[in-house]
Amino acid sequence: MRSIQCKVFGHDYKVSRHVTYHVKEYRCSNCKKELTTNSRGNLTELTPKFREINDVLERIHLKRRMRLKDYNKKQSKKLLAAG
Ligand SMILES: [Zn+2]
Repeated sequence: MRSIQCKVFGHDYKVSRHVTYHVKEYRCSNCKKELTTNSRGNLTELTPKFREINDVLERIHLKRRMRLKDYNKKQSKKLLAAG
């Protein structure tokens, strides 16, 4: 039984996915139980519904990061041209 270790010692959660700066998914390396950070910052079981939410969050987060990168590039070009 692979979960007996979890019952005795507790789960051994490792980060399995970085969704945003604040939201991560965790998986127990013993029993594969999964958790995620919910909107209140608490850990909760990773249900298919939460996985869906995280997929959306991840997409928004990536898009925002890419846009920010673009913006920074433009700003530095402007600065170079001005300087
Ligand atoms: Zn476990």
